[in-house]
Amino acid sequence: MRNWSLEQLLPNYIKRFEPYTPSKPDEELIKFYGCSHLYRLNNNENPLGPPPASQEAIRSFSPARAAVYPSGDAYHFRHKLSDKFGKQPEQFLVGNGANEVISFVIKAFCEQGDNIITADKTFAVYEWVAEFSGIEVRIVPLKDYAFDDQGMLDQIDVRTKILFLCNPNNPTGTYWNHEKLRHFLDEIDGRRIVVVDEAYFEFVEAEDYPDGMSLIDEYPNLVVFRTFSKMYGLAGLRIGYLAGGLQLVDAIRHTCIVYSVNGVAQEAALAAVADDDHLLRTRRMVRDGKAFLKKQLSKLNLPFISGEGNFLMVKLPMSDTLVYRKLMKQGVMVRTMTGFRFPNHIRVTISKMEAMEAFIDALVKSVQ
Ligand SMILES: *Cc1c(COP(=O)(O)O)cnc(C)c1O
Repeated sequence: MRNWSLEQLLPNYIKRFEPYTPSKPDEELIKFYGCSHLYRLNNNENPLGPPPASQEAIRSFSPARAAVYPSGDAYHFRHKLSDKFGKQPEQFLVGNGANEVISFVIKAFCEQGDNIITADKTFAVYEWVAEFSGIEVRIVPLKDYAFDDQGMLDQIDVRTKILFLCNPNNPTGTYWNHEKLRHFLDEIDGRRIVVVDEAYFEFVEAEDYPDGMSLIDEYPNLVVFRTFSKMYGLAGLRIGYLAGGLQLVDAIRHTCIVYSVNGVAQEAALAAVADDDHLLRTRRMVRDGKAFLKKQLSKLNLPFISGEGNFLMVKLPMSDTLVYRKLMKQGVMVRTMTGFRFPNHIRVTISKMEAMEAFIDALVKSVQ
C-alpha cells in the first residue's frame, strides 16, 4: 500500500473535529465502577417507559416483518401526525431520532462558506453536524441562561442560512415565550430558516410557552423538531420528526434518507401519539421529582438551574468529572456539563422518587 494517504484525503474540518465518545453499556459501567445497580439520570429518558399502547405495538410486531423494509417515509405515522395537528402528511419528515433531521436541514440549505447561528450552551448536535459538514458555526452566549435573541440577530450576515433555537433549552430549561418567538420570527422576516427544537415540548407547564406547530402556517421559513425519545419513552427505537410549511418541507426532503426509520419505531410511535394519560403521569412524576430535588439542593446549599423540561442542572463546588465518578460508584449516572461549556455543573434527569432519593444520598457523600 505505497500510495495510501489518509492525511490528503481528509478535509481539514474533519481533521479538526473531535468525535463524540458515547458512554459504555450499563453492564460494563456497573462492572467498572463496582456498583450493583445503575440509575440512568444522564440522558433525559422517561423511566416510565413507552405508553402502554406502544408497548403492545412492540410486542405484537411480527418477527417475520424484520425481513421486510419499513415504509420509506413513515407513511402511516405521518398520517397520524397529520390528524393530530391538523396539517397535511407532507408537512412532516420523519428521521432516525430528531438527531437525524438536524442533518437533513443543514444539508438542504448549507454549502461551503455558509453559516448557522445557535447558542454556546445548548444541545450540541446542531453545532457538531455543521462543523463536520464544513459549515461555519456562530455561537452566541446565553443571556441569563436563555437564548439571546438580539445577540443572534446581530450575528446574521449574507451567508447565514439557519438559526437554531432550542425551546425550552437543554440544559438550562429556559424558554422564549410567545411574544419573544414571534418578535424574532418577524425580525427574520422569512430571509433565513429558523429551527425551533421542541424536544421537551410535552413537558412544558408554562402558560406563555409557544407551540411552534401552530406558527408554521404563518411563517413559511419555520421548522419545528419533535422527538419520541423523551416524553414518549422511545429513545431506544430512534424516531423523531420535523414539521414545516409544504414548500419548505419539500425542499428539505431532497436530503432525507429513506428507510432510516425502522418498522418497530414507526408502529410504536404511531401508537404513542394519542396517549394523553401517559403524558399526564409523566408530568406528575417530573413535577414531584423536581420539587423534591430543588428542596434538597437548597438544604445542601447547592445552587441549581431549573426551568421547563425533565432535567435540572446543579452547580458543584468541584470538578464535574470527579463528582461523576463518585456518583457512579454509588450507582447514579448523571451528565457532566463541561462539554456543554458549563464547567463544574452536572445535569440530572428527573425520575421516580426512588432514583431522586438515591441521587441526593449519593450527592451528599460526593461533594463533602
Ligand atoms: C434529546 C434531544 C434531541 C434528539 O433526540 P433524538 O433521540 O435524536 O430524537 C434533540 N434535541 C434536544 C434538545 C434533545 O435534548
